[in-house]
Amino acid sequence: MNLVEDLVAAYRILAEHGVIDAYGHVSARSPSDPKRYLLARSIAPELVTPDDIMEYDLDSEPVDPRGRESVRERFIHGEIFKARPDVNAVVHNHSPSVVPFSVTTVAMKPIFHMAAFVGKGVPNFEIRKAQKGTDLLVKTPYLGQALAKTLGKSPAALMRGHGSVTVGETLPRAVGRSIYLEMSARMQLQAMAIAGPRGKIACLDEAEVKASVPAQDYNRAWPMWRAKALAGLKQR
Ligand SMILES: [Zn+2]
Repeated sequence: MNLVEDLVAAYRILAEHGVIDAYGHVSARSPSDPKRYLLARSIAPELVTPDDIMEYDLDSEPVDPRGRESVRERFIHGEIFKARPDVNAVVHNHSPSVVPFSVTTVAMKPIFHMAAFVGKGVPNFEIRKAQKGTDLLVKTPYLGQALAKTLGKSPAALMRGHGSVTVGETLPRAVGRSIYLEMSARMQLQAMAIAGPRGKIACLDEAEVKASVPAQDYNRAWPMWRAKALAGLKQR
């Protein structure tokens, strides 16, 4: 497995699925040094190539910047990798159907088996509790730590008025969770519209969540997503 190539593919996959716009990013922990991670320089996701992938320590200092500009919200990645030794990939995105759940009291529910992980809990990061008057960006180690604390042991966290973060033990899992979190949010909005204010929505129950989450690694989708994404890269 070539991790740099996988990461380039991940950027393109997330852009293609409308999960990251010009500003989202995805990282992977270095397989040779768990105290380092890989993340693209500040560039639109669909333009990422292997030369754009930079290495960082867990304080989010670039190891060999060579004039490349770092993304300001890199602390999201470094601080989550520090707090969660089980996590090897992190996606931060502004996926549009998820944001409304971050600004209301309506919780995201596990309504779709492909996003059963929602049933493990998706806490909402209120940046104001950590610091007032920010531009909502997690651009300091302190804010990264506050976000990692809100995330806790969960597979994803919303970020109020901003977006969300999803994590996984593998890159395919973090990428798949981002794609299916967006889909699940859209489906929940649809279910709520169909059900009406007094209607009931049947969610996955605790036993179903427990049975579904370990199996849901998105490994069947990953080779297809990856091949399509890298074919686009070779055409350039
Ligand atoms: Zn952001």
